[in-house]
Amino acid sequence: MRKVSIFGATGSIGQSTIDLIARDPDAYQVVALSGGRNVAQLAADARRLNAQVAVTAFDDCYDDLKAALAGSGIEAAAGAGAMDGAAKRPADWVMSAIVGAAGLKPGLLALEQGATLALANKESLVCAGELVRRTAAQNGGTLLPVDSEHSAVFQALIGEDRAAVERVIITASGGAFRDWSLDQMAAATPEQAATHPNWAMGQRITIDSASMFNKALEVIETHELFGFREDQIEVVVHPESLVHALIGFSDGGIMAHLGPADMRHAIGFALHWPERDHVPVERLDLTQIGALTFRAPDETRYPALRLAREVMQAGGLMGAVFNAAKETALDGFLGHRIGFLQMAEVVEEVLARLSSDPCLTNDTMTLESVLETDQMARQTAETVINDLQT
Ligand code: NAD
Ligand code: MG
Repeated sequence: MRKVSIFGATGSIGQSTIDLIARDPDAYQVVALSGGRNVAQLAADARRLNAQVAVTAFDDCYDDLKAALAGSGIEAAAGAGAMDGAAKRPADWVMSAIVGAAGLKPGLLALEQGATLALANKESLVCAGELVRRTAAQNGGTLLPVDSEHSAVFQALIGEDRAAVERVIITASGGAFRDWSLDQMAAATPEQAATHPNWAMGQRITIDSASMFNKALEVIETHELFGFREDQIEVVVHPESLVHALIGFSDGGIMAHLGPADMRHAIGFALHWPERDHVPVERLDLTQIGALTFRAPDETRYPALRLAREVMQAGGLMGAVFNAAKETALDGFLGHRIGFLQMAEVVEEVLARLSSDPCLTNDTMTLESVLETDQMARQTAETVINDLQT
């Protein structure tokens, strides 16, 4: 039996992962499940999968979790130390599906055990790509992409000569506001931004899709995972969300990856890799789909894409600055402190204020330096948000 753990088990990706694992209970031994405040869901899944331990990230949720697991024999734990402890438990395959920079440390601890890390948490790679890759390489860990575009790139590259790749194209649905005017976007509410035309996802990534910050993170993720240069990575708006990525080769040929807009395809691929096994997703009927359309993203509407390219050119810890500023700006938007378009203004201003710090582009990357940078960028973003409000 394969030992598996799921971090962020109660979220959208976590629940899709549990759906696949629960279909084949004899194949998996579930070590740890982690979640946030949705303790009832966490306990119910821990019981269903007979996990060894269930961990909530929040100390004040401990009593509720303990009560919900009473009589099950499943260990309950809470808080940052317990999250680290769960990540240190040996597992063969670990799903990294916490949202935000909070997913970085558990993923690194799992890689230190030599686990295969199925990485939905793209923020880890944006903040600390070099550290994540180094940790995997030094400990015999394996990184597998779960983001749909990156799973698609990974699949399209199987058996191919990397040196023959000219370019990589990742697609973007365009999110909730793809047909809105800039004036409409300026007045958009969090509720409007949190509805996605094609995918059912967590609230934060859904809003990041509307602002294209999600795609901006994914451009950096493509660079960090596969080593392609910034100028080799293109973004194309594809409203149908069925072609997830394309690889252009030196002979002019293009390999495209298609699949249904259901994350269980990419999760299932990572779960079964290096084999392919049955995954219960819809089979596409191209005659029903009829047409696939593509258009260039309008960078004036989506400054996040330009900012991502600047961050990649700067390198070092600027990815950690970018992600933390983005997370703080999103909190500002969710709290009705800034408007939708002001999120990019905040991130751009934080990058401008911190880019002159030579430590951020030259220092060796450690978990401590990444977390310090993350804190500094969050504080700077708070200042910028306050300045915008006054
Ligand atoms: P979600 O909001 O639905 O779930 C997030 C999970 O993280 C929950 O289990 C929550 O309890 C946990 N969590 C939140 N804050 C935490 C903290 N501080 N400490 C520990 N745990 C915490 O999010 P999601 O949509 O499932 O996305 C998860 C990750 O996967 C994100 O990095 C996202 O970018 C990525 N991703 C998601 C999708 C998708 O379809 N949902 C697709 C591609 C990539
Ligand atoms: Mg994606």
